[in-house]
Amino acid sequence: MNTTMEAITEVEETLSELRQTFKSGRTRSVAWRKNQVSALLQLIHDQEDEIFKALYEDLGKHPVEVYRDEIGIVKKTINYTLSNLEKWVAPKKSRLPLLLFPTSGEVLPEPLGVVLIFASWNFPIALGLDPVIGAISAGNTVVLKPSEQAPACSSFLANTIPQYMDSKAVRVIEGGAEISELLLQQKWDKIFFTGSPQVGRIVMSAAAKNLTPVTLELGGKCPTILDSFSNPSDLKVAIKRIVGGKWGPCNGQACIGVDYILIEEKLASTLIELLKKTVKRFYSDSPKDSKCIARVINRGHFERLRNLLKDPLVAASIVHGGSLDEENLFIEPTILLDPPLDAAIMTEEIFGPLLPIITLKSIQESIEFINSRPKPLAIYAFTKDEEFRQRILLETSSGSVIFNDVLIQFICDALPFGGVGQSGFGRYHGKYSFDTFSHEKVVMRGNFIVELEPRYPPWNDFKMNFFRLAYNLDYLGLLLLFLGLKRSNRLTGVSQKQCNT
Ligand code: NAD
Repeated sequence: MNTTMEAITEVEETLSELRQTFKSGRTRSVAWRKNQVSALLQLIHDQEDEIFKALYEDLGKHPVEVYRDEIGIVKKTINYTLSNLEKWVAPKKSRLPLLLFPTSGEVLPEPLGVVLIFASWNFPIALGLDPVIGAISAGNTVVLKPSEQAPACSSFLANTIPQYMDSKAVRVIEGGAEISELLLQQKWDKIFFTGSPQVGRIVMSAAAKNLTPVTLELGGKCPTILDSFSNPSDLKVAIKRIVGGKWGPCNGQACIGVDYILIEEKLASTLIELLKKTVKRFYSDSPKDSKCIARVINRGHFERLRNLLKDPLVAASIVHGGSLDEENLFIEPTILLDPPLDAAIMTEEIFGPLLPIITLKSIQESIEFINSRPKPLAIYAFTKDEEFRQRILLETSSGSVIFNDVLIQFICDALPFGGVGQSGFGRYHGKYSFDTFSHEKVVMRGNFIVELEPRYPPWNDFKMNFFRLAYNLDYLGLLLLFLGLKRSNRLTGVSQKQCNT
C-alpha cells in the first residue's frame, strides 16, 4: 500500500470498522476470544509448510530454527492462553482497608479498544502473532503491521489471517515507513511496538498526541560475561550456549542475542579457540554452505554490517571469519578481539553475526563496563561465583539477567519479557500480554449497612482521633472501630455544638 488518498481512506475505513466491532461488544465475550485464538492455532497448524517457505525466503532460516523460534513459540503461547484465559478474565477480589468495611473491592480487566501492533522482521511470525494473541485474549480489536523488511512473511500474514480470523476485528496492514506514519496519525487505544529505539521515539511522540499508551520492545547491546571455570566441561557448555545464542537465532539478528563478550585477558585465547571449534562443529568448515545458519535480511543491513567492519582498527581486530558474500547476503561468523570501544561496532547494536570479545583485567570490571552504557535488554553471565552474581543483580539494570545460559527467557510464559531504559518499557508474554492489552478497572461495591459519620464535617478532636486509629487498624482493631462508630454516632450532636460555639 502507498500513501495515496486510497491508502488513507483504507486505513481510516479499517479503523472505523474495527471501532464499530469493538463497540458492538462482540470481542468481549470469552467464547469469541477463545475462538479467535484457536483459529490462529489452526492457521499455524495448517500453514506450517508455508511458514517454513516464507522464513526461508526472507531469512534463509532452517525449518528446525523456524519451529524452535517461531511456530513452537506461537503454539505454546496459544495453548497457555487457552488454558488460562477464564482465570485471567475473572475479576480479582482485593483486600480493602478496614475503614471501608463492609464495602467490597475487585479488579476487573477490561479491553482497551482498538490496538496497533508493529512487528519487526527478525522473527516476523512470532513477534507479529505473540502480541496479537495478547490483544485478542484481552478482548481488543487489532491492526497488525508486519515489517516490510520480511516481505514473504508480511504477505503470508496478510493473506492467511483473514482466512482464519474475524476480519472485522483483526486486520493486517502491510507497508513501510510511510504507511506506519499514516497509521500513527490515527487515534489508537494502545500501540505495541517491536523495533529499534530510533523508530520507538517516533512511535512514542506520535502516541503522545492522543495520550495513547505504548509498549516499546526495543533492542540494544546484550553483554555476555564469561567468568573463569575450574571445570573444563562447564566451560565447554558455556561456549556452546554462547555460540548458539550468537549465531543460532537468526544469525545474530536477535534483540536478546549475544552482542559482545566480556572476559579476563588471560582467558581470551582459550575462548577464541573454543569459539572457533564450536562454530565449526555447528556450521561446518564452510558456514556459507550450511543450511543451519540464517542470512542477513537484506542489502541495507548487509551494508550496515559491512560498514561496522570498515574501520581499519576494527578490521585489524578480526581473529576469525570476516568474509562477506554480498550476492548471498551472507557474513561468516566473525570474532573480533578488543575492537576500539569508540568504534560503531561497540557503540551501536550489532544485530548481525559479528562477535566482539572485550578483555578486562578482572571480570569484576564488567559491572562498570555495562553500567557505562545504556541499559541492555538482557545481561548473560556465566559464573559460579555467588558473590559476583549478587553484585551483577544489585549493581546493574537490564530487562533480564540470565545466569549460565542465554535466550531462554524468551520461551517462559510465566516471566515478563521487556526492557528497561533504552531497551524499552512495558512487558508481555503469557498473562503479562493479557495485562499489557487490558485496563485493570477498579470496582467497589458500597452498602448502606454502615455509615461512617466521622468522615463528614464539622471536624472535632474525636474525628481526628478516629482517623488516626482507623488508618492504622489491623484486624484486631475491628472491634474498636465498631465501638468507635457507635460512640461517634452518639457524640456527633455534641461535637456539632462544640464546633459552632
Ligand atoms: P525498525 O524500528 O526499523 O522497524 C520496526 C517497525 O517499525 C516495522 O514494522 C517498520 O515498518 C516500522 N517503521 C519503520 N520506520 C518507521 C517510521 N518512520 N515510523 C513508524 N514506524 C516505522 O526495527 P527492525 O529493523 O524491524 O528491528 C530491529 C530492531 O528491533 C533492533 O533494534 C532489535 O533489537 C529490535 N527488536 C526488539 C525486540 C524485542 O522484543 N525487544 C525483538 C526484535 C527486534
